[in-house]
Amino acid sequence: MTRCEASSNKQKECHCCQTVRSGAELLEQLSFSSIMDLGHLLHLLIPSWNSVAILASFFTYLAIAGSLLPGKLVPGATLPDGSRLHYRCNGLLSLLLLGGLLGIGAKMDIVSLTAISDRGLELLSTTFLFSVLVTIILYAAGCKSTNRGSSLKPHVTGNLLEDWWFGIQLNPQFMGIDLKFFFVRAGMMGWLFINLSVLARSVQDGTLSQSMILFQLFCALYILDYFVHEEYMTSTWDIIAERLGFMLVFGDLVWIPFTFSIQGWWLLSNKVELGTAAVVANCLTFLIGYLVFRGANKQKHVFKKNPKAPIWGKPARVIGGKLLASGYWGIARHCNYLGDLLLALSFSLPCGISSPVPYFYPIYLLILLIWRERRDEARCAEKYREIWAEYRRLVPWRILPYVY
Ligand code: NDP
Repeated sequence: MTRCEASSNKQKECHCCQTVRSGAELLEQLSFSSIMDLGHLLHLLIPSWNSVAILASFFTYLAIAGSLLPGKLVPGATLPDGSRLHYRCNGLLSLLLLGGLLGIGAKMDIVSLTAISDRGLELLSTTFLFSVLVTIILYAAGCKSTNRGSSLKPHVTGNLLEDWWFGIQLNPQFMGIDLKFFFVRAGMMGWLFINLSVLARSVQDGTLSQSMILFQLFCALYILDYFVHEEYMTSTWDIIAERLGFMLVFGDLVWIPFTFSIQGWWLLSNKVELGTAAVVANCLTFLIGYLVFRGANKQKHVFKKNPKAPIWGKPARVIGGKLLASGYWGIARHCNYLGDLLLALSFSLPCGISSPVPYFYPIYLLILLIWRERRDEARCAEKYREIWAEYRRLVPWRILPYVY
């Protein structure tokens, strides 16, 4: 006879059975509430016509502004067939104009500044579905293309999943718009507008905190700086070498705006008290990160254009006429990654250290940049051979001097 049967004989539950029963009830309640939570979450993820309208308006605006607004016409890298694409770098103007229009719209009660933050999950799933759809179309259109030029020539492996994931064409266009450049711009701008909408929600809720202000300020400066230097984007690996498939479209449209803004969402429902020392340390992390990130990328950009240009006021130290070994590039072989990592950390520090959730971005970036640095190292060793070996001897650190 079990203890339960024994207790039922006595018409009274023993302590052990009561515990088991209340445990079972608790479990039942918990699983019920988890099912409810899951149900609620899934419900929030269902795209509505409103989220489709927000996304469609955003893309339409970007397409029109990108085509009509003035901007520096920057030649892209020379492609294998000798051709060069040209990019109109008017992202900053497009961004400021959109910000202004939304501000006026909000003043006139035509648009709601919290529309994005109120529909965050819906917009996430709508953008995800859009990415799937658009890359299926890109795959189908790419397969049919008879163009032999480097930017549109289809690269078909025959593996459907691989071709859809990595893309078929290098620089597909739609109505004269370079889609790769368009999606990067949309992602970076989307990140800023998600943040600003979260800010508006926190102001409306009366929960605006010092942490939220710091987070918003740092991200906004980083994104504005990106658009000020938008032309640098035209020579990055993604633009010149990666084909446009689901991996890139998802990365630009879903991953960047929705995961890089996690700290803001987290701060909406979590209160953090920061002391003066923490605020000062946070601002210094941002400032140092920015100086290293922008300084290193700029030094390389200037060096590539003119290897005789002075670095930090002195003649550049050059290896084999091709590699810069002074300035930031004499401290570590990828000092720009160090700057980016410090910046990423500065976006999360306002959230304190009570939860790992707001640290998603710096952790992800650390893994990504270590992996990227290894791949770039292998590529440079292959390309520059003994010059690279000499550079490695002169500058032994990869990212962080004396650590890595
Ligand atoms: P880099 O801008 O560091 O470019 C690497 C290339 O620069 C090398 O392949 C080589 O190319 C050239 N190079 C390397 N060392 C030297 C040197 N000493 N002198 C001259 N040329 C050199 O890499 P990425 O394109 O990966 O990164 C660009 C920026 O984007 C970085 O600041 C990075 O942090 C950021 N980034 C941010 C991400 C994010 O999610 N936030 C993701 C990825 C990057 P070549 O053959 O032309 O000489």
